Amino acid sequence: MAMIGTGTMPVMGGEQGIERRLWFNRCCAHYGAIDDAFGEYLAEVRPQVAICGNFGPNYWAAASSAREKGETALWTALGGGPVVRQWWKEFIGRAHQRDIRVLGMFALTCTYGDPKGPHGFFRFFDREWDEALLGPRPPGRAVDLMQRRLDGSLWEERVYRIEGGAEYWGCPSNPAWRAALKGMVSAALGLEIDGFISVFPQRHDCTCEHCQEGFRRWLESRYTAEELAARFQITDLPRHRFTTLNGWFEAQQSSPYALECLKYTQAVLKDCFDEVFVAHGRGIRPDLILGQWNHIYRSSYQGPGQLAGTFAQLNADERCVLDSTRWAGGEDFVWYSIGNWSMYDEPAQRSFGDFLLERKYLYEAGDGRPAGVKSDDPVRVRLLIAEAAAAGGFAYTRGPDYRDPATMPVVKTYFDFLRRHEPLYRPAASYAEAALVWGRRAVHRGDISAIPDFKRLGRLLLKNHVLFDVLLDENVSLERLAGYRLVLVPDARDLSADQRQDLATFNRGGGRVVGLARPGDAGREIIGMTRLSAQELDGLVPVAYQEFRPFLDEWLPGRSDLSSAPDTVSWTCFQESGLAVRKGDERTSISRRLVVHLVNYLRDRRPMDGLRGAALERPLQQGPITVHLRIPPAVRVNSVRLMSPDERATRKLKFELEEARVSFLVPSILVYAVVVVETGK
Ligand SMILES: [Zn+2]
Repeated sequence: MAMIGTGTMPVMGGEQGIERRLWFNRCCAHYGAIDDAFGEYLAEVRPQVAICGNFGPNYWAAASSAREKGETALWTALGGGPVVRQWWKEFIGRAHQRDIRVLGMFALTCTYGDPKGPHGFFRFFDREWDEALLGPRPPGRAVDLMQRRLDGSLWEERVYRIEGGAEYWGCPSNPAWRAALKGMVSAALGLEIDGFISVFPQRHDCTCEHCQEGFRRWLESRYTAEELAARFQITDLPRHRFTTLNGWFEAQQSSPYALECLKYTQAVLKDCFDEVFVAHGRGIRPDLILGQWNHIYRSSYQGPGQLAGTFAQLNADERCVLDSTRWAGGEDFVWYSIGNWSMYDEPAQRSFGDFLLERKYLYEAGDGRPAGVKSDDPVRVRLLIAEAAAAGGFAYTRGPDYRDPATMPVVKTYFDFLRRHEPLYRPAASYAEAALVWGRRAVHRGDISAIPDFKRLGRLLLKNHVLFDVLLDENVSLERLAGYRLVLVPDARDLSADQRQDLATFNRGGGRVVGLARPGDAGREIIGMTRLSAQELDGLVPVAYQEFRPFLDEWLPGRSDLSSAPDTVSWTCFQESGLAVRKGDERTSISRRLVVHLVNYLRDRRPMDGLRGAALERPLQQGPITVHLRIPPAVRVNSVRLMSPDERATRKLKFELEEARVSFLVPSILVYAVVVVETGK
């Protein structure tokens, strides 16, 4: 496996110089029925990672149903796949011969079947548990493992009704459920699988004995008796019975108790993940690759009818209030679902199903781990790969269909490009002039009031072609600020005194701090902060994004920009990491290579009979685009080269230097273009 996992990737961020075990940006995720043709497709397009198949409770539930029906495979809306283990073993073995690592989906809690019968998971666990494959069977019956309502009935939903049954959820607080999952991990590792993405990491309002006891211990470790009485009206914790132990909640149902339950929920799900995959899985296979499928929008889990809108918190996002030190802890990559791309494809609103703001957030929150945005997009395959690569992430996630004849040549062309130019993508660190602060601490307090402003500012920065990063409020420090000229703070209430001091120092050194005027700020202002009023921001909606320019001209004079480019083009820039940003006095400008990524969202959306899949993408060329890129002082530009998976030849571009900016003309762009600016002293 020389292609991935051998290097280390120093990243900018809170843990500079941290070593990553794994890097990849070419991924093929397939959700659904699978056959040998997928293996042949993988051999053609050559991803580093393939995500397919189910290996947790949903596989065993489906396998039981398939056996009952005398079939060799059962695929359902919640998972399943070929029953025959030998098929999987051969599939994975062939992938390994091609340097492709195979990750399987593995439900952390959700499963399905019918306890009467029994069928599905209940039949598997009660009657078909194979100790030769799965190890010792945990005690009890399947019904004993499940999340329960207060009246003792199983938490049950009938949305998918697979094989006539219903959906049930194993309880992550229950040691027997964790033991069952461990057995399934062992069985999957027997197939030589390389890792897992845990799916359905969710806990409902389960009030089973294990959750009662777990939540009592949780409260005991965090609060005194006096605090419990004052905050939650709990006066006798050892004997207290909780009548509700919610997971996610809607903001209008917010209370200190609801927030505490959500924190317990997310912690216990992470405990379950860590025990099953990190401790048990990596105990067997130390290089096991791990990640989790999370949601950053409010999903109804019912297919159509899901709610558009990213950065949903408290009522979505499996890690929104998880202790920051545990966020993706021990995990190798980050994966978030935004639902379906078409919910966001509203050109009249200047929204093009573009997810760079979300990707920038994940790049920061994941501390440079490979990150994917799941958008169920089988059409804009070029765009999906381009946007991910431009954000330092990976593609593709669920969406493209290997059986669609138009998909394979597109994926192959783009992956060939990424593979050929891999040194441009790693090691690399974002090169940006501005930072937009994400207020994680407010979410941890149960306060989501500043999120709309964060999103609005983010959209305005994107549409006005500002090179910016998302910066977690927890990561605001002199060291991090040193790379920027402008910091936007939607909500300053949760910044510590030290951080306010750092921002004031940043300001004295010539940096600009812009904050939103908001109630509760009084007396806690950041010295030197420019205040943007709510009325001013209200006037700046992304539809009229150009009205933000005068502000940017004042805040970021001589900024990097794409002149003459419409908002249907986005861009990012990365630099060779470890070169330009050093600690304290050692900071020197010795960056050797800046890599500009341009992404074009303009496409022909007219309906077209007879076209499907990637054939519908129909991008429309744009250009010419003049790029102005700020470069560090006293740096010479040696060459500027343009390359793209959309055309064969690399082009040398003419460039001009003026006042710390290099400018060059990109004649045209179809979907994705990369411009390499080689610099030297
Ligand atoms: Zn429970």
